[in-house]
Amino acid sequence: MNEAADRHPVLQGLYLNGQWWEGKERLAVINPSTEAPLAIVTGGDAQSVDDAVQASRSAFDAWSRTTGAFRAVILRRIAAGVAERRERLMSLQSTNNGKPGFEAAMDVDDVIATFNYYADLAEAADVQQNREVALPTEAFAARLRREPCGVVGLIVPWNFPMVTTAWKLAPALAAGCCVVLKPSEITPLAELELARIIAASGLPDGVFNLVCGTGLAVGAPMAGHPGIAKVSFTGSNAVGVQVMQRAAETVKGVSLELGGKSSLLVMADADLDLAVELASGGGYFNAGQMCSATSRVLVAEERLEPFLQRLVAKAQSIRVGSPEEDGVEMGPLVNQAQYRRVVDHIETAKADGARLLCGGQRPASQPRGYFLEPAVFTQVPLNCALWREEIFGPVLCVRGFSSEAEAIALANDSPFGLVASVVSSDSRTADRVADALQAGTVWINSPQVIFPQTSWGGFKQSSLGRELGPWGMQAFQEIKHVVRAT
Ligand code: NAD
Repeated sequence: MNEAADRHPVLQGLYLNGQWWEGKERLAVINPSTEAPLAIVTGGDAQSVDDAVQASRSAFDAWSRTTGAFRAVILRRIAAGVAERRERLMSLQSTNNGKPGFEAAMDVDDVIATFNYYADLAEAADVQQNREVALPTEAFAARLRREPCGVVGLIVPWNFPMVTTAWKLAPALAAGCCVVLKPSEITPLAELELARIIAASGLPDGVFNLVCGTGLAVGAPMAGHPGIAKVSFTGSNAVGVQVMQRAAETVKGVSLELGGKSSLLVMADADLDLAVELASGGGYFNAGQMCSATSRVLVAEERLEPFLQRLVAKAQSIRVGSPEEDGVEMGPLVNQAQYRRVVDHIETAKADGARLLCGGQRPASQPRGYFLEPAVFTQVPLNCALWREEIFGPVLCVRGFSSEAEAIALANDSPFGLVASVVSSDSRTADRVADALQAGTVWINSPQVIFPQTSWGGFKQSSLGRELGPWGMQAFQEIKHVVRAT
């Protein structure tokens, strides 16, 4: 940690059993627009995880027996608290994540909608509980109960810190679980603020616990802790595999939301202006640091040239800068490691023969900060890392296709299967292509809108399980049938 970081106030990074504590480790949190430290957050260790689990286990008995209606009141209070602290939460996401104001606002709105949605589901669960099951005989009767699975560990990444947290936390609390949450060590500030809101919501002590810290110091002990019944993890595939391996030791339930290499298909009859807008949004939103980035753009051969011209013009028009500057449309990458990783991919792709049409370098107007101009590549070899791997930066690879079947085959040729987009003015074509794509969400002529009511997660190595919707809550429930002889 550098000297400038030492001058910053130290934030308590542990919230255990309703009390704030300082951890032993010091984590410098930076502003990626300036590279300057924003705060020092203290991080925990295996002992802090154990303390959090003990607090959760003590609270579980009473919390798991509350009604859904009771839990809904608290979830709505959290949603209202987030709405009240909207400006503060937006500002933290702009300074810590580099998100422009409009992106930070979308995240806060998503969090509010998610807590309110799971409040509704918690209430509805009261009505569903103990529902009779139809049996082929009158000699027996059976009822179905869904019960909270226990203490759950939630491990989240840095790219959408508050949103990925809300997608796990709201359904876990709605289901009646107690929670140990570990934010990313890179972007813990939004979750620290969320924890303060939760602390004021009337949630009983011990139901929600927060342990900031690194993956090795905190995440790994969570995955292995015998007192945690289930781990819900969002992050990279490499770490997801490690979490699954640790969880196997105690036969824990695991939900994983991992990487993606998604495609946007521009069919021959597509509205090209719309296609360019959607390609730009799918590739450059959050500076491309999205698991759902549609980083492969497949365009009907006869429309390829005009599409590329318009896409390059669009990419070059995007204003890149600090969220504090007026009119900024794309912020920086999250830190130096991510910046280097993306630049290395760009250099390797050029060496592999891919053609860079624009962007991919530091804007002249931004001498500091982890800024990159949005890049458009074409002629990317199919075996090149830029085509096959998740880049997590503002880089689009555009390629022509000569038939619908070829477009579908190119899109599906990936170990991932998170999302896809189709642009076509013919609804039958769009639906046919959408049905053939191996992805958990397919958007047709649409930006990447996400509703709490629809599922989030993907095919193949992108996910294990689904978040959002009723599936998001079922992930934190056990199923019990009570069968009696009549
Ligand atoms: P990461 O895997 O490096 O870290 C994710 C979290 O895991 C962090 O909190 C980290 O501290 C923790 N961690 C690290 N090592 C650990 C270990 N050994 N045991 C337990 N926990 C550990 O991912 P990241 O760089 O923070 O996020 C980017 C990745 O997240 C990308 O691959 C992206 O695709 C993925 N992501 C997926 C989704 C989705 O919904 N599918 C959403 C957002 C991000």
